[in-house]
Amino acid sequence: MLIFMTGITDTHAHLCDPAFDPDLPAVLENARKAGVFSVIAVSENLADAEKNLVLADGHPMVRAAVGLYPTNLDFDQASEMCAFIRHNAGMLAAIGEVGLDYWKVQEEPDREIQREIFRGFIELSRKLDLPLNVHSRSAGRHAVDFLLKHSAVKVQLHAFDGKPASARPAVEAGYFFSIPPSIVRSVQKQKLVKKLPLSSLLIETDSPVLGPDPQKRNEPANARLVIKAIAELKGIQEQAIIEAAAENTESLYGRK
Ligand SMILES: [Zn+2]
Repeated sequence: MLIFMTGITDTHAHLCDPAFDPDLPAVLENARKAGVFSVIAVSENLADAEKNLVLADGHPMVRAAVGLYPTNLDFDQASEMCAFIRHNAGMLAAIGEVGLDYWKVQEEPDREIQREIFRGFIELSRKLDLPLNVHSRSAGRHAVDFLLKHSAVKVQLHAFDGKPASARPAVEAGYFFSIPPSIVRSVQKQKLVKKLPLSSLLIETDSPVLGPDPQKRNEPANARLVIKAIAELKGIQEQAIIEAAAENTESLYGRK
């Protein structure tokens, strides 16, 4: 079934964030007007996960991803989350967001806990054939190495802040990179997009953060700005970017 082949998918947004409580239907309508026809709603904890399942149930354009944010170093919460994922697997688009954050987590013993929790989610992703929606702040190269070492298959690296050289093995493994609207002000993201092949790119917003203006609430409609930025950087028509991203989204998230 081809579900992502038309329009833009925002592959990483925090729709469960309280910033969207007052006006989520209007936010989704704005997105649709901008050509964004589906949104993958990621979770940071169990409360988010439950909320995202309700949102996905109530809004046909929303699909839920469920995971534990990597700065959360609690094994009990991690195993509760794994149980929740197993129990609700049929309703999930992905496991996320999960990953490594070496910017906030600096002590080696804490990083070891973080890796152990991440390893559990990678295993679950393989077992359930669910994509991983991965956070990797100040840990781009480490996250790629770790995913490869643990034989992760379906992978989206969201807001990747590493060097293009660190991304290369991930591209070779068929992993995808989702680009947020902050690309309009981030030289690192612009460099990354120039180096990555179109066949590795996905669109995201990370709403309500990583917008074009860091002072303002970011929204899924801004996925459109990402299309425009990639088109300009690569010297390709916007429509061709939309089609390539849709095909990539389908290959990672589409269900056979
Ligand atoms: Zn996020």
